[in-house]
Order: sequence, then C-alpha cells, then structure tokens
Amino acid sequence: MNPSRTTTKNHTHRNKSLLLITYYSLLVTLLISCASPTSAPPVFPTFILVTQDPNASPTPTPFQPLGGIETPLPTFTLSPIPSDTPTITLTPTATATLTATASPTPVPPSVTVAPAATTVPPPTALQPSRTNYIFYATLDFDAHTLDVDETIRYYNTTGVALSDIVLSVQPNRYGGAFSLLVIYQDNIQLTTYSLNDQRLTLNLSQPLQPGAATTLGIKFKINIPAKASEGLFGYDFNQIDLVDWYPFVIPYVNGWVLHDPMSFGEHLVYDASDIELNLKTGPDVIVAASAPAEPNGDWTRYRLYGARTFTLSASDEFLMSESAVGSVKIRSYYFNGYQAAGEGILYAAVQAVSIYSVKFAPYPYETLSIVQTDIHDGMETDGLVFLASDFYGQYGGGAKNNLVTIGVHEIAHQWWYGLVGNDQALEPWLDEAMAAYSERIFYEFNYPRYGDWWWQFRVDYFKPTGYVDTPIYSGGSFRAYTNAVYLRGAHFMEDLRVRMGDDNFYAFLKDYAARYSRGRATSADFFNTVRAHTQADINDVIMDYFSASY
Ligand SMILES: [Zn+2]
Repeated sequence: MNPSRTTTKNHTHRNKSLLLITYYSLLVTLLISCASPTSAPPVFPTFILVTQDPNASPTPTPFQPLGGIETPLPTFTLSPIPSDTPTITLTPTATATLTATASPTPVPPSVTVAPAATTVPPPTALQPSRTNYIFYATLDFDAHTLDVDETIRYYNTTGVALSDIVLSVQPNRYGGAFSLLVIYQDNIQLTTYSLNDQRLTLNLSQPLQPGAATTLGIKFKINIPAKASEGLFGYDFNQIDLVDWYPFVIPYVNGWVLHDPMSFGEHLVYDASDIELNLKTGPDVIVAASAPAEPNGDWTRYRLYGARTFTLSASDEFLMSESAVGSVKIRSYYFNGYQAAGEGILYAAVQAVSIYSVKFAPYPYETLSIVQTDIHDGMETDGLVFLASDFYGQYGGGAKNNLVTIGVHEIAHQWWYGLVGNDQALEPWLDEAMAAYSERIFYEFNYPRYGDWWWQFRVDYFKPTGYVDTPIYSGGSFRAYTNAVYLRGAHFMEDLRVRMGDDNFYAFLKDYAARYSRGRATSADFFNTVRAHTQADINDVIMDYFSASY
C-alpha cells in the first residue's frame, strides 16, 4: 500500500478542482513472514465441489491454471481492445496524445526486448495442496449487503496434526458488519468455534493429520460499512470497495500467524491460494476485480490462481479504459471528469508491467485493474490496485506526479507482495523497500532523465532516517515508519546495487522472484539470494541500514 500523510477525502469524485495538497507520499505494500514453500507436498484427493446453484457449474477442473498464465511475453504495446461494458476505449487519437504528453523521453530499446525464456519462474501455479476458495456471493449495491456461500478446501501441509484451524475475518473488525450464519466441516455443521475480533478459531472434533485435507463451508453476510476516511473497505456515495472481505485460513509457521492491526502499515500475512468467485449483482453495477470475468449461468465467475487475496470494487459510475501487455489485460477504472488521468495511469501501467515483467518475472496474473477511489494514497492487492482520487485530480499529464509514482509503486507490489509474499507486519521492508525502489527502476528505463527528480520528490525531500528493518509496530509515526522502511529502503537498494554491480543486481532480482514465487520470503532469504549473486562484502552496507545483521 501507499499510506500518505495528508488526508483530504473526496466526497464527490467529480467536483475535484485542481487545488489539492501535493502529496509527497510513500507507498506501502503487504507481506508476511517466513517459511519457504513446502517441499514434497503430499498427494491429496481431487476436490469435488457440490455446486450451490442449479444454473451454475463448478469449475470443471477446479483451480488448474489456465494455459499461458505463467508465460506472458511483455511486448510493449498500447493497443486498443474492444470492451464489453460501458467503457471508454483508448482510441488511436488518445494513444497519440498519451504518447506525446506522457513520454517526453524515448523509451529505451531494452523495454521492447522480450524476456529470455530462462527468466520464467517455475510453473508453481499448479499446486494441488494450495488452499482453494470457492464463493457464491450476491452483492446488493444499493442496500450495501453481501451474502456469501464460501467453500474452502484446506490441505494440511504444516507437517503437524492440527487441533484447530484459524481464519482471518477482517470484516468483523467493523462493528456489526459481519454475520456468521453457519459453518460446516466436511458437510457436518460445526458448532465448536469462536469468533473474536479478526480471529475465527475452528476447534476440530478430531485432529487434521499432516497430509490430510478438509472442506469447510461458511455462510456469512456482510452489512458493508461506510468507508472511513482513512480506510478502504466499505461504501461511499457511488462505490463499494471489498478488500480482505472473506474468512481465509492464515499461514501456519510454528503456529498460526495473525498479527494485530496497526494504524499504519499492513498487518496480514497470506499464503498463496486459488480462488473462484461467482458473483451476482445489479445490471447497472460495473465491477472491477482481481481476475477476468466470465459467464457462469446466472453468475459471473472470476478465477485467480496463486494469489494472496481477491478484491472487488463496484460502482454504477465507473468509466473504463483498457490496454494490454502481451496477454495481460490492463484496465483503468475512473470516474467522469478524470479521463485524462485514468488514461495517463493506464499508459504508465503498460510501461510498468512491461519493464517489471522483463526485470523481475512475468506478470503473475491474467489482468490488472487500476481503480480510482477515495483513499489517501494507494493500496495494492493481487491483480487490482487502488489509487487516491486526489492523485487523479492533481494529474496534469506526464510522469512527474503522484499518480504515476504511486501507481507504479502499487503495480510493483504485484511482484513484491503478490508473487513473492512476506510478513508485512514484521518485515515490511521486503515489499515496501522493493516497491519503492521499483519506482526508481520504472523511471530508469522509461524516463531516464527523471532520475534526480524522482530521488528528490519521493525520497530525499523527507531527509529519511531509521532502520530499514523496522516492523510496523516500531515505526513510531507513519512518517518515521515510511522514512525508515520505504525511503531508507530505497537508498539501501541503490547502495546494494552499486556494490553488486548492475548485472548481478538484476540477476538477483530475477532469482529472488523465481525462488519465492507464490511463497514467502524472509530477510534472511533476501540476503542469502543476494550473496548467491555477488562475492562482494556487503556487511557494511547492511550495518548502515539495518538494526540486525544478516
Ligand atoms: Zn507499498
């Protein structure tokens, strides 16, 4: 995510005048803790799901990845794609305008180079032991309610017998928002559970043995709360944002990992999971989602593989422009009056996905949605990022602005948070410093003359101090926390790169993305991978920036 320091909330998207506070803000991401991907997973029985709706069909082969997801080739094109909803498609005229205003410097040839085949991470999407989620959800946009039938197939890959299973229920942190109707385990109603704040603990009648699997059914209803000024989850006058809206099984690393919320920074840790959402809502409601939509009887189905979470944003006033990078569809959702900004960030997103796909790993999902909303900064989720309406209002073209810097930061989180997870609470630098430094990489390859501007605008203006490895609970204030984790983090990455040399540094980034793809990395994992790519002594660099030694 990208928390910001100012908090002017828009109450109407359209009445935005240009006089807005300049945000020199920072970005934030999500991550969680340790644990390498489980090796040698046991063989589990096939998951046969009973379909809840006679007009819908379960995914024929649930949770198998679609062909080609893992190997999109990032060709750098801004091509208009016919759209199927009330959208504004980028026309050739618009494309030319965008090129003229947003790309004052020529794109270096390296951006157009397709990645070598060897850079593609292993096909980790095909993992039968990953937790599966299937939802049948009905969204009443006007009544602000969501009725959900959730099925979870959970595979015990922890290596120990589990007497309980613990789920995160973030909507329960909002008073009266979450109603748990019934829970089943393997089709038998489960009554031995407790729901306290964000934690749902299911006490099992008999332990779930290592290598065994169980199916959980949860029916729940959400009375969607009004969106708080500092929050994202909830509704406002024309939009509903649903993030971390469903119960999900938290990671188990020598115990269940569920950290306390904090006023800034993300506290959740996620395993990668496979998600199918079947959604019903009103005919006038336009839905931005983490995955592409497809018809499924009376439902609209979305499938997302190897992701931390599934996010929705719904509005009856969205406008949409779209483009593509190779097979990855990129959609920009914005409101009336913000078309130039909506298309400006779309153009930057194409540039960002292109360069990150070459330098890090292929884009992890099928689609990327960029959504305007009333928050203070930006927030990343898998396949969908939110950006502050204020950034759209401030946008005057080009790439020297918050919309583009924060936008590409959130997009970088698709790799550093989405593809490579981490403990966002205890080791937030692993996603935030990486996303912040990815901004620098975006400018390096797309706007090389803007390098000094970026360092000043985003980093050195704040005269950052502090340890890069500061947990969210130790940051003191938002400003001090982001200065330490994001901004000193960016300087650390730069110094590390200088010490390693460019070739080794970029080889490290690719290797790190590949090693921890769909898993989680720790600080130790990060430095072990660094040292696999350099013989240089980096201890003094670590001492300069970190409280711990690695
Ligand atoms: Zn971030």
